[in-house]
Amino acid sequence: MNADQECIFCRIVAGEVPADKVLDDEAGIAFLDIGPVAEGHTLLIPRKHAETLADMSEEDAAGLLRNLPRLGRAVQSATGCEGVNVLQNNGSIAGQLVPHVHFHIIPRSPGDEFHFNWPAGAYTEGRIDELAAAIREHL
Ligand code: AMP
Ligand code: ZN
Repeated sequence: MNADQECIFCRIVAGEVPADKVLDDEAGIAFLDIGPVAEGHTLLIPRKHAETLADMSEEDAAGLLRNLPRLGRAVQSATGCEGVNVLQNNGSIAGQLVPHVHFHIIPRSPGDEFHFNWPAGAYTEGRIDELAAAIREHL
């Protein structure tokens, strides 16, 4: 997908689609998610179109993520939540619906309705070392 014409988040960056913006700088913008998992659910996105994190340069990612601690603190203070989850989905298999990189900042409160299915597994003998080596080779 190309920037601008078809991408809803590029259109928000360009000011063509309204959004409740909370942050705006040279690297990115943040605005409230219109389908919030919890009140104050915020999205942080790069100005420059990139479909997934793997498509971003180190510089663009660093510029964007500079804002994450400050934004997380602001969301937490403004909503009074106890904590936040930061989620970032890459690819439809991972639940990505909008193909423009975005970080979800989701306020968490006791008894909220947000649950993870986190099926923690275990490695067979030696497999963890093999995988670590394979990942190091690809860096
Ligand atoms: P994901 O499934 O990670 O791609 O999440 C996409 C998120 O974008 C969803 O939480 C949507 O509610 C949100 N979203 C889609 N369109 C808009 C929009 N125009 N303004 C704000 N949030 C949006
Ligand atoms: Zn885009």
